[in-house]
Amino acid sequence: MKKHNFAAGPSILSPYTIQHTAEGILDLNKSGLSVMEISHRSKDFMDIMDETQQLFKDLLDIPSGYSVLLLQGGASMQFCMVPYNLLKTKAAYLDTGSWANKAVKEAKFFGDVDVVASSKDDTYSYIPRGYSVPSDADYFHITTNNTIYGTEIKEDMDCEINLVADMSSDIFSRPMDVSKYAMIYGGAQKNLAPAGVTFVIVKDEILGKVDRVIPTMLDYKTHIDKGSMFNTPPCLSIYAAMHTLRWYRDQGGVEAMYKLNLEKAAILYDEIDRNSLFVSGIANEADRSIMNVTFVMKEEYKEKEADFLTYATERGMSGLKGHRSVGGFRASIYNAMPKSSVEVLIDSMQTFEKSI
Ligand SMILES: *Cc1c(COP(=O)(O)O)cnc(C)c1O
Repeated sequence: MKKHNFAAGPSILSPYTIQHTAEGILDLNKSGLSVMEISHRSKDFMDIMDETQQLFKDLLDIPSGYSVLLLQGGASMQFCMVPYNLLKTKAAYLDTGSWANKAVKEAKFFGDVDVVASSKDDTYSYIPRGYSVPSDADYFHITTNNTIYGTEIKEDMDCEINLVADMSSDIFSRPMDVSKYAMIYGGAQKNLAPAGVTFVIVKDEILGKVDRVIPTMLDYKTHIDKGSMFNTPPCLSIYAAMHTLRWYRDQGGVEAMYKLNLEKAAILYDEIDRNSLFVSGIANEADRSIMNVTFVMKEEYKEKEADFLTYATERGMSGLKGHRSVGGFRASIYNAMPKSSVEVLIDSMQTFEKSI
């Protein structure tokens, strides 16, 4: 029986994505070949690449003047590529979690880093507010969704300088205004495809401003000039991404995803707040992620956490254990997660409460 997959990443993909990807693995477009064994320069694959990039543009309403790149190396490679390509003297970073912190660490190899605010002292349980971004920084880096802690920046902020966002775990979860960003990047394995492909949406005019020599593979311009085909792209992962994006389009695009995501998050947070056993670690409702819902058991029931995990596992749920740095539980409810699975979790929280 298929499990209710609440894993944080790699994570749930739509049955549509898995079904169609499987078909292309066995026989791509009745060609007698697998998508895994054809040239990336073949027409069949070029069509896949073109359609995937076009779907990015259509679904996110990406304005002209931006490129969509499909690269390798994960979001973690972007932690280094961003400063390599953009940092002249100083960059500003918002420290909202472990991933943000890792991005800061890489940027420091390239210049001064001004961490404008951090919620580290409070286990990253909130999104800092009221900070100011230095106008002389080359860019301001944010992590819109903090996958581990379950906080999220849900609005596209106005920023005087180039705004760069790691959107690994909330891309396509809501309508957004791409024009407010100079760059958006992320790994695919949260809301898009199996691990392997990394998306970068970059405003072309911000590039070419640093003096340093950039190794060919780490230079965004290389990949823009070659249409993400400078070297062999992660073909299978891109193929799966194309199907996910087709599915998003057919469901009504990011607006429809957003509506469903809000509903799923609302019923789950309501249950956490209502249930006498559980408590959200994220006090400020505005900061609560609609993608990764973290919660723990109240102090007096702490020793029941393992029991609840077993209980949920027996009921067909998987991936609910919280990250080791937070403990408790994390229900990742990405786009592909049906509301019915969230309802199964809620039902289990209620029946477990009654059993105590
Ligand atoms: C998962 C994740 C990463 C790391 O992605 P990799 O592709 O494994 O490098 C970075 N940032 C965020 C917000 C993530 O959720």
